[in-house]
Order: sequence, then C-alpha cells, then structure tokens
Amino acid sequence: MGSAFADIMELAASCRFRDCNHEREPGCAVRGAMEMGTLDAKRLKSWRSISAEMEREAKKAEFRLNHLQRNEGKEKRKEAMTREIDNY
Ligand SMILES: [Zn+2]
Repeated sequence: MGSAFADIMELAASCRFRDCNHEREPGCAVRGAMEMGTLDAKRLKSWRSISAEMEREAKKAEFRLNHLQRNEGKEKRKEAMTREIDNY
C-alpha cells in the first residue's frame, strides 16, 4: 500500500477498537475524522477496498504457507520412516 493512505492507516492504527471495520462503530477514529471533514469519504472508500484486497491476499499467502509447512512435515515423516526401515 502506498503512502497515499498513510494518514488513514495512522487513524486506523489509533482506533481504539480492535477488529474495527471503521464503518458504524461509534467512537471510531477513522469515522470521527471523516465526520470532522479531515478525511475525505472517497479516499476512505478506496482505502477500504484496497485494504480488503490486501487482507484477501494475506489470507491466501497464509493458506499457501500452511500448506507448504504441512507438506514439509509429511516429507520429514517419510524420511524418518525410511531411516527406520534402513536400520532393520
Ligand atoms: Zn475504527
């Protein structure tokens, strides 16, 4: 994500709610800035779509990583089994 959204990211980080959607939560820092007019609604909208996309990508990457680790574990077990067989 570019620094074009640095201010929104900062607001989101300073939001007192964890897992805040920054939409309807009363007291949300991002929403507050928008209501005060310091944050442009259009920019907030594009930031939301970008961060949603990033989250999807992050989830995909996490899934791939888990998958890789599982496969690696399988390989190690196979290796250990062959070693045991070799000992006989
Ligand atoms: Zn928020």
